[in-house]
Amino acid sequence: MTTLPLVPLTFGDDLPARRVSMPPTHLADMDLTGRRAVLTEAGEAGFRAAQLSHHYFGRLVRDPASMTDVPAGDRVKLSELLMPRLLDPVRELACDDGMTRKSLWRLHDGSLVESVLMGYPDRVTVCISSQAGCGMACPFCATGQAGLTRNLSTAEIVDQVVYLAGVAASGVMQGSPRRLSHVVFMGMGEPLANYARVVAAVRRLTSPAPEGLGLSQRHITVSTVGLVPAMRKLADEDLAVTLAVSLHAPDDELRDELVPVNQRWKVAEVLETAWDYSRRTGRRISIEYAMIRDVNDQPWRADLLGRLLAGRLAHVNLIPLNPTPGSRWDASPKPVEREFVRRLRAAGVQTTVRDTRGREIDGACGQLAASEGEA
Ligand code: SF4
Repeated sequence: MTTLPLVPLTFGDDLPARRVSMPPTHLADMDLTGRRAVLTEAGEAGFRAAQLSHHYFGRLVRDPASMTDVPAGDRVKLSELLMPRLLDPVRELACDDGMTRKSLWRLHDGSLVESVLMGYPDRVTVCISSQAGCGMACPFCATGQAGLTRNLSTAEIVDQVVYLAGVAASGVMQGSPRRLSHVVFMGMGEPLANYARVVAAVRRLTSPAPEGLGLSQRHITVSTVGLVPAMRKLADEDLAVTLAVSLHAPDDELRDELVPVNQRWKVAEVLETAWDYSRRTGRRISIEYAMIRDVNDQPWRADLLGRLLAGRLAHVNLIPLNPTPGSRWDASPKPVEREFVRRLRAAGVQTTVRDTRGREIDGACGQLAASEGEA
């Protein structure tokens, strides 16, 4: 067995402070008490905090000019205090008959991040970014190749959802409900490397208005490559969110290469921690597995994965790899994929193949590598 060189990983809080420029504070960074305190310290009426929060979370209003119950002369100052502009839309691309929409945003420091809104007959889901770039260096992933720029603030995470909930509410996705109901943290970044802000964002998204957006915790999925200490912490949070583990290989030898963080926390430890999360929350674990031609798609790996997962509260989501330009990694052929599914199911493991929504617009998993250059 060859020993791989240790791949340098960047966790959000490792970045030198001088390189990081966080955005101004926004009401979505705070609870209602904090929002009131900001206003009263600035000599404003505290009750306006609930009013602004209701506009933002209850009515999805982000533009102060639309807040007609707030005196016109106060709107600019109040929005500077509690609703500074965080996301500048750079571009929106749509495909799948308008049912998949990728948004590219520029943040206050020029960083670019993306979110993808997906409409289905029974639900509307948004896939959001938790970091600008990613420090986990998975070699098959477009985002990982660019490295980590910085963590997003809580409000930058929440604002992606609120903005796109407004898009869904406008009725542009015909055949889908207008109410955004599901959030997946599977865009740019490793969510658990930005732990405190991601957990605060989950709380804000799931608290009832005017405190938050009022989504169901059960409709939120947080993914991780397997940061074991953070997974343990998440189990202590008393949140009923789904945990998705991006496994991509059932054996340490291959996973050390495909998901370099495996050099710190091995498959057995990651899965044991996931089962503990499942025991404590009652939630099924989602196992994400990108199918990569001739790399991790062999029948024996399907059998090994089946043995690891049999009898567990787990569901495998196979993801046809989205080839990125110039990459040596390619998707598994369909017959290979079908055989992999067959073997997992034969082992009693629930398995589905994820649809390739957004492939035309580089909006699928591992393709979010925000750049302004493409048309
Ligand atoms: S696959 Fe996920 S964790 Fe790995 S580099 Fe890409 S965004 Fe980061």
